[in-house]
Amino acid sequence: MGYWIDTHSHLSDDSFRADPEGYLSRAAENNVRHIAAISCNKEDWEWNLALASKYPFIDVMAGFYPGDVQNLTEDDWRDLEAVLRDPRIIAVGEIGLDYYWDKTYTELQKEVFARQIEMANELRKPISIHCRDAYEDTYEVLKNHPAKYGALFHCYSGSKEMAVQYRTLPMDVRFAFGGTLTYKNNHRQREAVMSLPLDRIMLETDSPYLSPQGFRGKKNESKNVRYVGEFLAELWKTDEDILQEQFRRNYIDFFKRDLP
Ligand SMILES: [Zn+2]
Repeated sequence: MGYWIDTHSHLSDDSFRADPEGYLSRAAENNVRHIAAISCNKEDWEWNLALASKYPFIDVMAGFYPGDVQNLTEDDWRDLEAVLRDPRIIAVGEIGLDYYWDKTYTELQKEVFARQIEMANELRKPISIHCRDAYEDTYEVLKNHPAKYGALFHCYSGSKEMAVQYRTLPMDVRFAFGGTLTYKNNHRQREAVMSLPLDRIMLETDSPYLSPQGFRGKKNESKNVRYVGEFLAELWKTDEDILQEQFRRNYIDFFKRDLP
């Protein structure tokens, strides 16, 4: 029997730290059996790695979030390089550009993004991209610094035309979709997802953020990736187990991870 995978969860979020077992068992009850835990800083990846040591169905990504670039020190960079050598780290993320909250450090954001891509290339890992209001600049950075081992857009909210443009880049580009896909007015994102071949798509929650329709206003959890999957199966007019198997293969192929 197939299962769902959440490719982007902030398991280290303060609100989940008190009861990770509860979180994980609710995920399992909803047939969500593999989780990629994303990190924004060292504190995050240390927590996520501790969980991954306990639970083999958790993988970890480590990187510096674009919103925090102004505080990075060379010690931080050494820490990142060291942790990326850990085989439990499947990708560098989440990294990228965010012009929505603050445009003070856009140049520095691009530098930090590029440096992390180069590091990912050196250590042979793919990257997980956070991009908000910065699709053009993200394209420029990727053009000048291709992610040799692949790039996954987390919660892709760009246009279908932009997705086409990204796919012309000489690298393996994929797109993850989460709860926002199910929002009533989000025709643009549904149009983007339907324009992509299934082997370019993955599912995620971005929990605790971006709960799907019906759960809005509540804290999101990995268990809810199931609703995104069911929604997509309906949109695609296909069976859930076909999607589950496709997304499982996509995960193995992109992250070079063996899954049951
Ligand atoms: Zn995130």
